[in-house]
Amino acid sequence: MKLQSSLRQKITLGYLGYYAMALLIIALSLFTYIELRLIEQKIKLGGRITELFDATLEIRRFEKNYFLYRQDSDWQEGNRYAAKVVELLEGNAADFSVLASAPRIARLLNDVRAYRALMAEYGRAGLANAHQKTLLEVQVRRVGKDVVTIAEGMADAERRMIRESLDRFRTTLVVSIVLISLLMAAIGWMLSRLVARPLRHLDRCVEAVSSGRLDKLVVPSGDREIISITQAFNHMIGELELRQKRLLRSEKLASLGTMLAGVAHELNNPLSNISLSCQILLEEVGECCPEQGKELLEQIDEQTERARKIVRALLDFARDKPVKRETVRLAALFEEVLLFLKGETPPGVSIVTEIPADIVLQADRRRLEQAFLNLIKNALEATGESGEIRIGAARHGLTKESFVAGQGHDTRFLGKGYPGVEAIDIEIRDSGPGIPADVLPRIFDPFFTTKDVGRGMGLGLFIVYEIVEEYNGSISVNSEPGHGTVFHIRLPLEPADGPQQ
Ligand code: ADP
Repeated sequence: MKLQSSLRQKITLGYLGYYAMALLIIALSLFTYIELRLIEQKIKLGGRITELFDATLEIRRFEKNYFLYRQDSDWQEGNRYAAKVVELLEGNAADFSVLASAPRIARLLNDVRAYRALMAEYGRAGLANAHQKTLLEVQVRRVGKDVVTIAEGMADAERRMIRESLDRFRTTLVVSIVLISLLMAAIGWMLSRLVARPLRHLDRCVEAVSSGRLDKLVVPSGDREIISITQAFNHMIGELELRQKRLLRSEKLASLGTMLAGVAHELNNPLSNISLSCQILLEEVGECCPEQGKELLEQIDEQTERARKIVRALLDFARDKPVKRETVRLAALFEEVLLFLKGETPPGVSIVTEIPADIVLQADRRRLEQAFLNLIKNALEATGESGEIRIGAARHGLTKESFVAGQGHDTRFLGKGYPGVEAIDIEIRDSGPGIPADVLPRIFDPFFTTKDVGRGMGLGLFIVYEIVEEYNGSISVNSEPGHGTVFHIRLPLEPADGPQQ
């Protein structure tokens, strides 16, 4: 069974790393302090060794002078320095033991004492005893040389010791700095990779949800906390979706009510006309002239056709067939729609299309045709006998902002917005009279029409709206009286599966 990790564990691990680092820094500081104290002591010892060595050199200098000029003052000075060396050796025997072995120090002390004794004997020997004096002089020189050699060795040992201490100090410092840097880098890497990365991923997913995309979160993390946040979030999204569906259902029921009222009203007119014509026919059957009967029958036929049209439009709208997905070339689709409308296009109206041949959609051809047919029909009715209709399309790489933001005076935006999804923009522009500001907010409502009875049913744009919604697209309109109308449709190239509920 795979062990479940936890963010807390990782953060605790990070803390432990920091504690280890803090300990290392404390240990390093302690070591530095102790080592500096030791170096300080060694330098102090170095001072005494230098004093000792200098004293031995002085002994030899006065000894040389004394043998050359025979002056008592030189003898006394030499003796004084010899006494000083004895005093230094006796007073610092323990400290000096790190620089030379005990027998060597004892030998130095003995040498200096012997030296003093020889010098004293030399001073006491009479001038007549020249042979003895020469012998003593040779002995003094030999012992004196030995004293300087030992003292010099101790001074060298001291210098070497300080150098070694400094080298060790430097090495420890460099190793510690490297270790601390490595530890810091490892902790940083661990926190960023094991902690920050899943959090960043979670953040991105949550951002997608907040932009309206109610997709379940999939965060590839084994951390307990992230798993439980993801589960809680997904539960919340499920609830949200459920509520959204309920809301949509109640909205749909409300609009169904409005629509039914509209249908009843719309059907009532032709039915009353038919009923009236039938009553007249019944009353006057056999009495009226055939022309009047024909006229009444024609009216019945016309009103029946009108009722049939309403019913057909409603059936089209309400059909429960699954939306087909087929490859549709947009340019070819518009060609078909325009061919279909050729008979209704007055000679004074020019229709210009600018649709790149490579725009291909996965869509239900009949539904799209229906939407564009309704829009172009409205444009034709708006332009009347003369004018221009321009139909354009372009690919659009979407960002979150550009998808939800429209241009101009949009009346509505549909669709939830899919960040990063490619889309196509379709524009249908006419040079008609435009839509008055008070009419604009209502044009997508079912049965809203400004056209004369018998010409408009007010279902065209309502159906367009529904079809665009099926594709998670958006529709907006930009219109000002006197400046024509532009309908702008944006369809994502990767539509959501199936129509929206
Ligand atoms: P209908 O065409 O049956 O009236 P629609 O739903 O297609 O129903 O249109 C609703 C209303 O929107 C129209 O009656 C008209 O006032 C307005 N409309 C739609 N398209 C245009 C257009 N291109 N120019 C001006 N007004 C328009």
